[in-house]
Amino acid sequence: YAHPTTPVLDTLGREGTVFEDAYTPTPTTGPSHSTLFTSGYPAAHGVLKNGYAMLAERRTLAEVLRGAGWQTGAVVSAFPLAARFGYGRGFEHFDDEFPVETASSPWNEWEGFRLRGGFDRRGDATTDRALAWLARTSPARPWFLWVHYFDPHAPYDPPPGYRRLVRDVGERWPAKPLDEQIVAYDAEVRFTDEQVGRLVREAETKGSSGGLLVVVAADHGEGLMSHGWMEHGVNLYEELVRTLLLVRWPGHVRAGQRLHAPVGLIDVAPTVLALLGVPSTSMQPQGEDLSRVLGDGGAPPANRLLFFQRRLYTERDQQELAVGGEEFGVRMGAWKYVSASAQGPPELFDLDQDPGETRNLHTRAADVEERLAATLQQWVATQRGRPAGARSVDPDDVARLRALGYVE
Ligand SMILES: [Zn+2]
Repeated sequence: YAHPTTPVLDTLGREGTVFEDAYTPTPTTGPSHSTLFTSGYPAAHGVLKNGYAMLAERRTLAEVLRGAGWQTGAVVSAFPLAARFGYGRGFEHFDDEFPVETASSPWNEWEGFRLRGGFDRRGDATTDRALAWLARTSPARPWFLWVHYFDPHAPYDPPPGYRRLVRDVGERWPAKPLDEQIVAYDAEVRFTDEQVGRLVREAETKGSSGGLLVVVAADHGEGLMSHGWMEHGVNLYEELVRTLLLVRWPGHVRAGQRLHAPVGLIDVAPTVLALLGVPSTSMQPQGEDLSRVLGDGGAPPANRLLFFQRRLYTERDQQELAVGGEEFGVRMGAWKYVSASAQGPPELFDLDQDPGETRNLHTRAADVEERLAATLQQWVATQRGRPAGARSVDPDDVARLRALGYVE
């Protein structure tokens, strides 16, 4: 990227391994994090859209580590990842408190949930809280800390001073509103990058003799109008589903490695457990263990199939967002095939030749298309008919409805 948005991540990447082609199966916060923590596709963890709770029988990375004697803490920065949706499972300490003073989004209602505090928390306040937990950890046992940042997200509203760090001061201010939005988003990325630096620096001093394993992952990208859409969720183009994934652990993970084989957030939990030497058997991962790729140079799985699906939308959402029904996709090698039959013909892209997905090769590579269409159809069939996670119900709402005589 031409602008200096991620100096800290660039350094961490050079000191570790960067997966250039890492994917989320669903470019929406809840489903994507559920995949990260359970190594399951949405049908397995049940979070088909935000606001659903992870299925209880699906074990999480934090549960496995806690069971193995680790100290576990988490600080999340936005309501979609609140404990009520299952994300607190396995954490001894889980901070999902969002005081209005440190919120950056103005929302007080979300997906039908009424919020008591703010919707989110700025990254500097999140780092403070994460460091406070680290200070309380015992040196006698290893610890696992999950810190979630939410700043690079709509509304694009960086703290003062950060726009200057991502664009030359002398550069003329963007004339187009879209450019202005992109500069603001970049500035939020820069702010978050700085917070990651602060966190890792401090955490390093709290590391046990084994040193500090750092995994940096993003749950999805942002459209920024690349395919006519500003935010995320509604489609499966690269700018939404291709995510950041880097792993750094000096002495254990190869430094300076940049891998282009497609991998997924679905691989993170089994890979982390394998690196740490903690058995993942109770987890039933659907992803692959990439620890050998990170360590002594095993090759990434060849001809790997990675699947994508758009989050579930209600009919009302569909009308408001102009999205038609379900959308599924598959990536194999350089090929990506995406089908949303209610929206028109499928799309087939050769990502080596066309990383920006501008030329739909539908009907122009018939044998590849036929094979991927059949593979995808088969996979979709196996995802059907599984129980979905329940929509989490607010106990306060139940009390209120009971008072009004709506529920028993
Ligand atoms: Zn998100």
